[in-house]
Amino acid sequence: MDVVELDQPAAFGLERCGAPEPNWPGMRTAILCELGASLTPLSAYEITDRLSLRYGRKRHANSVYRALRTLISSNDITLIESWRKFTPMTKAQAGCAWLLCERCETVKPVAMSETVGALARLASGHSFTATKIVLEIRGTCASCHAG
Ligand SMILES: [Zn+2]
Repeated sequence: MDVVELDQPAAFGLERCGAPEPNWPGMRTAILCELGASLTPLSAYEITDRLSLRYGRKRHANSVYRALRTLISSNDITLIESWRKFTPMTKAQAGCAWLLCERCETVKPVAMSETVGALARLASGHSFTATKIVLEIRGTCASCHAG
């Protein structure tokens, strides 16, 4: 099994954009900072509300969605499909599996390239063209399990 521990996504988001700026840094940077500052993935509406509050001006969900699509295309963030929420990621985390804690709502990326390759071959074997393979495992993280 090719399970490899990867960096926590939230730490990456903060490292990437630094501390949140008092002035409006632009939508994509602001989103990365907001996701990086959060310990858990955020929905588009949560991001919109936080940006409006932080920068003292109403932000619109349509603008946030547009920027989110760009950030997904560039592999700067990913959508946690099970929860319809977003989290920062590194390019190395593209195609990884995500462990989702249903108690504390943290997510953890784990590399599973052999599994993703096997699933792609399975789809291909059925003459099915996979455009995206989503691996999300829901359960309880070690911290919550211990507590
Ligand atoms: Zn947990």
